[in-house]
Amino acid sequence: MRGAVMYGPRDVRIEERNDPRIVEPTDAIIRVSAACVCGSDLWPYRGIEDLEWPAPMGHEYVGIVEEVAAEVETIKPGQFVVGSFWASDNTCEICRAGYQSACVNRVPMGALGAQAELLRVPLADGTLVATPDVPSDDLLPNLLAASDVLGTGWFGAVAAEVAPGKTVAVVGDGGVGLLAVLAARQLGAERIIAMSRHEPRQRLAREYGATDIVEERGDDGVARIKELTNGLGAHSVVEAVGTQESMLQAIRATRPGGHVGFVGVGHEVALPGMELFWSLVHLHGGPAPVRRFLPELIDLIWNRQIDPGRVFDLQLPLEQAAEGYRAMDEREAIKTLLTP
Ligand SMILES: [Zn+2]
Repeated sequence: MRGAVMYGPRDVRIEERNDPRIVEPTDAIIRVSAACVCGSDLWPYRGIEDLEWPAPMGHEYVGIVEEVAAEVETIKPGQFVVGSFWASDNTCEICRAGYQSACVNRVPMGALGAQAELLRVPLADGTLVATPDVPSDDLLPNLLAASDVLGTGWFGAVAAEVAPGKTVAVVGDGGVGLLAVLAARQLGAERIIAMSRHEPRQRLAREYGATDIVEERGDDGVARIKELTNGLGAHSVVEAVGTQESMLQAIRATRPGGHVGFVGVGHEVALPGMELFWSLVHLHGGPAPVRRFLPELIDLIWNRQIDPGRVFDLQLPLEQAAEGYRAMDEREAIKTLLTP
């Protein structure tokens, strides 16, 4: 089969890889209908994070089940399925508490490489959620978004305790940040402040429900949020970048007693203890337990109540994956969808 492999920073190739085969009795093999490039794939692409090269790439996927192993009970060949970036059993104590991304039996899908024609999915019954039927093509980007970028933005909003009547600020205007805006709207936020200085992203943020745009960053951005909230700060802030600056911006833009949901993969973030102590904010975040939200998100998408797939502003055949990485790296594209 054809699949994306990263050989080092800025070196993504599509090459012939071995077809995946059943390894564990709980595995499924799916034929990938669509995959995509994640903001987190850009960390190794930019040389900020080392992988074991060459590394198969991709952890967001939707597709049709081709084959299931002996112990798989609920997932059947022919079903259209959505899974998240951690395979999880969905039965252990951590999963049952809603933290499938820390399942005691979890397997990282990124190591298996979803930017490919075929994909082995471990713990298929726990990991995959089937749609009511095989979807029409126009639903594909929306369903693919549920696999990570929407699920992660949604978790950011849930972790930030977004609720009706609250003011929410979102730090980061990548796909996750934009979909955190959509999530905040769905969860009933009264006011949603998107922090972005890119006009096309500001426009999409507004279409997804942002009521205010703040272009300033760092301390100036914090000052603007305070101005907009009677000097108090937002009730809920979603951090969707993962840098020292964005994390401090999120904490400082949150009012005492408020909540920060941090879902940007933190790189070199060190929080000053004394400032944290006096801030009186709640911090909750990490790799999103997307599996918790998949049934609800698939339902919203299936009933055409949300259209998260609009963050895919570049669609390319899998063979042109390298171009998809480049466009995202240079911020020409918000997010690249790849079709095998
Ligand atoms: Zn589990």
